[in-house]
Amino acid sequence: MTRKGTSSSRESATLQARELSKTFGFGDTAVCAVDQVSLDVHSGELVLIKGPSGSGKTTLLSMLGGLLRPDHGEVLVEGQPIAGLAETALADLRAQRIGFIFQAYNLLSALSVEDNILFPARLVGAPLGAARQRARELMERLQLTHRRRSRPAKLSGGERQRVAVARALVNDPPLILADEPTGNLDSYRGQEVAMLLHEIAREDGRAVVIVTHDPRIEDIADHVLWLEDGRLRDRREEAHEWARDPVCNMQVDRWTATERSAFAGKEYVFCSASCRELFSREPQHYLQQDQTPQPGLNQEGV
Ligand code: ADP
Ligand code: MG
Repeated sequence: MTRKGTSSSRESATLQARELSKTFGFGDTAVCAVDQVSLDVHSGELVLIKGPSGSGKTTLLSMLGGLLRPDHGEVLVEGQPIAGLAETALADLRAQRIGFIFQAYNLLSALSVEDNILFPARLVGAPLGAARQRARELMERLQLTHRRRSRPAKLSGGERQRVAVARALVNDPPLILADEPTGNLDSYRGQEVAMLLHEIAREDGRAVVIVTHDPRIEDIADHVLWLEDGRLRDRREEAHEWARDPVCNMQVDRWTATERSAFAGKEYVFCSASCRELFSREPQHYLQQDQTPQPGLNQEGV
């Protein structure tokens, strides 16, 4: 993956985004959700976009998948700019070339597992015999065969997300976009889905983009990008960014810290859950103490 496209990466990347921006609202209430984000994702790559709640992850993913039009910038899927496409052509491109996976699974409750998986194939008018065959292969691969006639309500969270993964794959798209795919799953099931997404990138040669704040997925990603206030930063470029825990003053790696809390529009990181809890009870108290700059640290504590 490259942040800035060269002419060769423009030709080969499955997904390219150039200077994407999106602002919601106007005037005083305007929120710049995504601010000049560029990225390339090639086939076989799994790119993880992390960031705290409200940092613009869903907005960015929606623009990458042609579900939301950017105010500025462009998205190219397999080299094709999507901005100029009419609504129907864009819908076709989404259905045929992009598989979406959402945190809430978004399965149709009235349909069986098999019919949920087949749904995108019907949408694009794929020959039904071949689509059924593919759905069966996917159910086999994702250990869902015994569930093929069940309705989603009868399934566990992990099974529902596997159905959503199979549905995303049924039209064999080169690009998979997943929004918090493990957000509703326990640790074991979350790991399982993460490994599955890894396999979908590596073994199938698809380009996979996952947005999440789940630290468990980090190990399997080729690239981890950090979205903060709508802006993207490559973790490799800032691998050792230290922040100060405002409670105990310990230095904490801003990228790997799992204990986080937002206060007054800023995100703080903590060495442990107990420090975060203390901070949550009385943030002003710790922020007042935090005024004195420390040697080697700037005013921001980083
Ligand atoms: P994330 O997925 O990282 O939690 P979002 O992309 O959902 O972040 O939101 C980024 C920012 O844009 C937030 O401040 C959010 O309130 C705002 N936002 C998102 N969608 C809309 C919308 N449809 N209308 C107005 N503001 C929005
Ligand atoms: Mg979101």
